[in-house]
Amino acid sequence: MDAGTDKPAASGETGIDPRYLHDWSGLERGTPRVLHRPRSTEEVAAIVAACDRDGSKITVQGGLTGLAGGAVPADGDVVINLERMNAIEHVDSLEGIMQVQAGATLQQVQLAAEAAGWYFPVDLGARGSCQVGGNASTNAGGIRVIRYGTMRDAVLGLEVVLADGSVVTSLTRLVKNSAGLDPRFLFIGSEGTLGIITRLTLRLQPKPGDTVTAFAALPSLDGVTSLLRDLRRALGPSLSAFEFMSTRFVDLSLRLTGVARPLETAAPWYVLLDATGAPGADVTPALHQALEHAMADGLVADCAVAANGAQGQRFWRVREGIPEILTELKPLINFDVGLPWVETRGFIERAEATLTARFPEATHLFFGHLGDNNIHVVSGPHRPVDFHAVDEIVYGELHGRRATISAEHGIGFIKKPFLHVTRSPEEIALLRRLKTALDLNATLNPGRVFD
Ligand code: FAD
Repeated sequence: MDAGTDKPAASGETGIDPRYLHDWSGLERGTPRVLHRPRSTEEVAAIVAACDRDGSKITVQGGLTGLAGGAVPADGDVVINLERMNAIEHVDSLEGIMQVQAGATLQQVQLAAEAAGWYFPVDLGARGSCQVGGNASTNAGGIRVIRYGTMRDAVLGLEVVLADGSVVTSLTRLVKNSAGLDPRFLFIGSEGTLGIITRLTLRLQPKPGDTVTAFAALPSLDGVTSLLRDLRRALGPSLSAFEFMSTRFVDLSLRLTGVARPLETAAPWYVLLDATGAPGADVTPALHQALEHAMADGLVADCAVAANGAQGQRFWRVREGIPEILTELKPLINFDVGLPWVETRGFIERAEATLTARFPEATHLFFGHLGDNNIHVVSGPHRPVDFHAVDEIVYGELHGRRATISAEHGIGFIKKPFLHVTRSPEEIALLRRLKTALDLNATLNPGRVFD
């Protein structure tokens, strides 16, 4: 069997490229014993079965863009990285359904859908590196959730290798299937703790029409949520992205990316939004009208509607300055909390005030996909010894608020101590029972999500 195995050198060096030792979270754990990059489900199954027999612990890796440390291996681990399983196996261009291996990158999937006359709507800044199996295992969201939902809405079926090496092929391609419990929902969002996703069937969407992008300056946070409500009412499903950013986020991104400032008007909050019509339909007049109303109502202080796609992309570059920001503020802590809109202002005001009082030297940025309740906080640089205190401040604001500590990145290792903040003891007990039922020996991704 050629499982593409890179064995450690006898000299004591690992022989494993350091890029397989960490993800984007900055977490470092240890030196794995061996790295496998299999090419087929059968190879994955053979490696997993052998590990389960001899007691080895497996770390599953996709594109290593995760922000929760779930793909970071520990000393002695067996790493299975799916990057060689990247085939687009089949596209049904009649119905808009694609079957892929789990190691295909998100961008590969998007381009293959486009080539077949369809559209794959899950989209995020790490699209060139993250894998669709990693996206499913974290239930990734991204910038189009407001219109199309998360990976849970995009995956129709899965093939999974379980901890004992058995393979469950449930590559259904039906939109409806009520023949008992749907296995895909056990594995989407389970962060590699219940099985290794090896293949997926994906639901494609009709190609949308032209997108118009706007950048708006807002005087208040309440105005951001009111604008979102009004735009949803005015534009319906044409509202295809709604990203809010604090002025500090915008200023830092502009400095690091060198992009021209989209609006001269200074404001504490900015919104970047897309409106996308049906093919052939022009949503520009409806967007202009909605923004004029918002200005008349005092929700928006100033706004610019991009004259063309190139200008729209320049507006988006401000929001997508994340990699530069993550590099600039290292060592940092990255949050992806979720809250009801009504709680947004209180959460941000309290968290920002406490973070600023306690860590005045650090930068604290607030932004996110508000349409799907998702608020990102990036805070750094911090001394590692202060990480826990920063976590306590931000997660402390979520107690009892119908919130989540992770709206899209997953729990991994990094957020594990705080799972109880927004999951009840009964929910955590159920997760543990599922883990025990499917992986008695704790072979797959041990220590992720909970101990
Ligand atoms: P990895 O980082 O390799 O792994 C993530 C977890 O999934 C680990 O627990 C790993 O063990 C498990 N895993 C990976 N592959 C499999 C598999 N085949 N079977 C079972 N388990 C597996 N996320 C969002 O949701 N929305 C965003 O908008 C977003 N923007 C980002 C922007 C940037 C610049 C960066 C760096 C990250 C961003 N992320 C975002 C986070 C990250 O891209 C996602 O979590 C992504 O889904 C991870 O995919 P991956 O292939 O890189 O997985």
